Amino acid sequence: MKIIKANVLGYCMGVRRAVDKALAAAKNPLGKKVFTAGPLIHNPRVVECLQKQGIDILDDENIPETLEGSAVIIRAHGISPQLEASLKQKQADIIDATCPKVKANQLKARQFSEKGYAVFLAGEKHHGEIVGLMGYCPGCIVAENADEATRLAEALYQKKPESACVLIGQTTVSKEEYDAVGREIQSFFPHLIIVDAICNATTERQEALRRLCREADAVLIAGSKGSANTKRLLRIAQDMGNPAWLVEGKDDVPVEIRKYETVGISAGASTPEEVIEEIEEALGQ
Ligand code: SF4
Repeated sequence: MKIIKANVLGYCMGVRRAVDKALAAAKNPLGKKVFTAGPLIHNPRVVECLQKQGIDILDDENIPETLEGSAVIIRAHGISPQLEASLKQKQADIIDATCPKVKANQLKARQFSEKGYAVFLAGEKHHGEIVGLMGYCPGCIVAENADEATRLAEALYQKKPESACVLIGQTTVSKEEYDAVGREIQSFFPHLIIVDAICNATTERQEALRRLCREADAVLIAGSKGSANTKRLLRIAQDMGNPAWLVEGKDDVPVEIRKYETVGISAGASTPEEVIEEIEEALGQ
């Protein structure tokens, strides 16, 4: 069997940076108890590995009365400024691993909101990144897709037709979806400002996978079933007509894969290198 890997796969810059910060904190030079504000990334193996090194998850809903003597790592997709302030008020030291691209969107959301703009956010309402971003622009309007954007823009137009509007997005939203949301809002507010909010890490992995699918007979996508960008890679491979499986580790590698001559491997942005290597080795056996 020939194994080929996508030329862009696995950890993106923001996730690698957050994991490195957590591993450095795990060495615990200050002797503090270390937490992450929610799971650091969408990969249970990484979360478990951090827990073994003494880093526990702080549940947003259930923060202790005091965090004196503790450090809290903010994950790559950020948290709201209100939650950050409450952690500081409880005397936690903050280790900010918010991805710089997410941080840039948060600061733009705040600037526009303070100038009185109606801020539209394109993305998933319950995703941690959008939940965090919403805290930077109180009263913002979240649209998960173009249809919702039409309804929400129309409702705003009926109430406040003179609104100055801006669109910001979740970094991982697809360009097509972001453009479609923008077009719908522009049909009511032609002067809409569209912030360049999308991160190309996602698109790069998707494009590399499409190239891989053209060369491979079947594809394995390494990563967690809980990771949205990993699941999206699986759908892309399937849409390209390749037999494809999402595998969390070597035990998930399907036996049928052995009947294909060329097998491609890609991986989501939260998949560590060791998982990719483990799958490669399992295929080689
Ligand atoms: S996908 Fe992009 S924005 Fe999100 S953490 Fe990775 S590098 Fe940062």
